[in-house]
Amino acid sequence: MNNDISAIKKEACTGCMACYNICPHNAITMVEDKEGFKYPVIDKDKCTNCGLCSSCCAENAPPPELFNHWLCRHCA
Ligand code: SF4
Ligand code: SF4
Repeated sequence: MNNDISAIKKEACTGCMACYNICPHNAITMVEDKEGFKYPVIDKDKCTNCGLCSSCCAENAPPPELFNHWLCRHCA
């Protein structure tokens, strides 16, 4: 299973750099496209598939209809 952010579609990526900043192995490079927007590119040789990048990506959040499953049981 692939745990990195490569499943995030380019059009969904905001270029926030959260994935870039959290990667403990410097496996992510922000590469500028021809319009000047930066998107993450993963170096598969450095990536350990730890999943930190995808867990911090806001675009990888569960859809609203699943939010109830994510509520804390102690305060819901
Ligand atoms: S899965 Fe881990 S090692 Fe791979 S790019 Fe994401 S944060 Fe870096
Ligand atoms: S954390 Fe998500 S939205 Fe932000 S740059 Fe990485 S892939 Fe794009």
